[in-house]
Amino acid sequence: MGRPAIIHKTAADLAVPPHLADYAATCRAFSWDAARRELAGLPGGGLNIAFEAVDRHAQGARADHVAFRFLGSQAQRDISYRELSRLTNRFANVLKTLGVQRGERVFVLTGRIPELYTAVLGSFKNGCVVSPLFSAFGPEPLATRLKLGEGAVLVTTEGLYEHKVAKIRQQLPALRHVLLVGDEGQPTNLPDTHDLARLMAQAPDAFDIVATQAEDPALLHFTSGTTGTPKGALHVHGAVVTHWATGRYTLDLHADDIFWCTADPGWVTGTSYGIIAPLLHGVTSIVDEAEFDAERWWRILHEQQVSVWYTAPTAIRMLMKAGAELARKYSYPRLRFVASVGEPLNPEAVWWGLDVLGKPIHDNWWQTETGGIMIANLPALDIKPGSMGLPLPGVEAAIVRQHADGPVEVLDQPGREGELALKRGWPSMLRGYLNNEERYRKCFAGDWYLTGDLARRDADGYYWFVGRLDDVIKSAGHLIGPFEVESALMEHPAVAEAGVIGKPDALVGEVVKAFVSLKEGFEPSEALRMELLGHARKKLGAAVAPKEIDFLATLPRTRSGKIMRRLLKARELGLPEGDTSTLEAGA
Ligand code: AMP
Repeated sequence: MGRPAIIHKTAADLAVPPHLADYAATCRAFSWDAARRELAGLPGGGLNIAFEAVDRHAQGARADHVAFRFLGSQAQRDISYRELSRLTNRFANVLKTLGVQRGERVFVLTGRIPELYTAVLGSFKNGCVVSPLFSAFGPEPLATRLKLGEGAVLVTTEGLYEHKVAKIRQQLPALRHVLLVGDEGQPTNLPDTHDLARLMAQAPDAFDIVATQAEDPALLHFTSGTTGTPKGALHVHGAVVTHWATGRYTLDLHADDIFWCTADPGWVTGTSYGIIAPLLHGVTSIVDEAEFDAERWWRILHEQQVSVWYTAPTAIRMLMKAGAELARKYSYPRLRFVASVGEPLNPEAVWWGLDVLGKPIHDNWWQTETGGIMIANLPALDIKPGSMGLPLPGVEAAIVRQHADGPVEVLDQPGREGELALKRGWPSMLRGYLNNEERYRKCFAGDWYLTGDLARRDADGYYWFVGRLDDVIKSAGHLIGPFEVESALMEHPAVAEAGVIGKPDALVGEVVKAFVSLKEGFEPSEALRMELLGHARKKLGAAVAPKEIDFLATLPRTRSGKIMRRLLKARELGLPEGDTSTLEAGA
């Protein structure tokens, strides 16, 4: 609104000289091999994320530096690098004692409590593949992911076990051990269910990290597509090189920073940047165990003297809504760098940062499959509000168009809209979708990884997000597959068919909206609508369930029987219906 299109950096912004001062020179000099050499590697050879993130510091001068500060509802707990090394060794010993082998999968379903962080890093040490799950998921998305991932171990809390896992445990034959976090400290009577605190207390402090190699799998993150079950994106220990380089160049982490990544580790940002990247740089991370609360967040930024803050557009919009006055109750003199990811960041939000915090917000772009930040507004460079920024050193991006016969055409001219593609070869690129080679293969055309996002690049090389090529929904930063929601609705006896779309929303980006048609003998009513909303919420959890449900006599389908979500969306928004030549007659 009458604001300039560029925010120039000031001397104050650069008071702490950024690691990346000269973009062109750094890009020219950069190689992933050289970045890899900045890491230590395992003493006997090999590469393991937990060694780089924890033990390397625990064995050196930063051993007593605080790695994590957990802000619980009652108390605050600091864990130093030395202590984190000891706890993660113990957790690795717990797995070993239970006979959990290298390559087996450990799922973690808890809030943001210390045990989550210990379990993730301890699992890496034992050579296991870790999958953190979002604790707000309902039993159905949990069962789908645990089944697909064939989890051998699940770390969870007594409460989550009782409310969610107990209902689905019979469906999980691969699950051999459940490790329960609870305050009771009571041995549980359930078979193969252990009290984690007791096992941790018995475990030795020392552990020889399994000699994993860069290409060994380390992380499994689920993400959603338009059709079918969620995809399990596999990442390897070598991804740590991307986490290291992006922590340095994009988040500009310096040794004395207090860093706060607000994402939950159930989503990839909360693992790559809520656990791994800050530890690699030996900084102190704040972990808030509570849910969003505007005043609490301002107080945390103030009291904890956060210097680098990595958050998300929905949270920023909620803070904007809570008003600048609330923000001004506190001060943030140490705050030096603010970044955001996950959804389009409105230019107003970038400017709001400058007005209220004295710092503009740096949007950046990546996705589960890329494992780390790929495109970013960088600390030393001008910001173009509304743009995602420039490709990082080591990342080659392009706007492409894929032809029906497979190959892609690179659209070189600035301003052209097309699919955002990345040249394969960055270390944190996914190495496969679990049990789905074909879907993985479809992500590539020759050397290009196709992101599924539409974008354009301007004459200065900045990338601008345009939209998604598929029907996936982004709500409050969470990627939601319409198929998963439709399937849950179809399980209700009244529902004949369901179609789910993302309806634009000023606060959370999109809200999940469902259209259902009813079986013979059922009539639309307000009572049934409420019942369906409740049914979906119980099965899917609040983060995934639809917020709105409309009844339709029939849903528009293609002649081949697919529900035309795009048409549902166009009709909902009063937009042109586009090409309806494949629409089934009468729909
Ligand atoms: P996820 O895999 O859950 O991290 O979601 C990745 C998707 O979120 C991307 O493919 C984009 O559609 C969207 N996304 C991530 N970052 C941005 C951004 N800075 N601007 C616009 N969309 C984004």
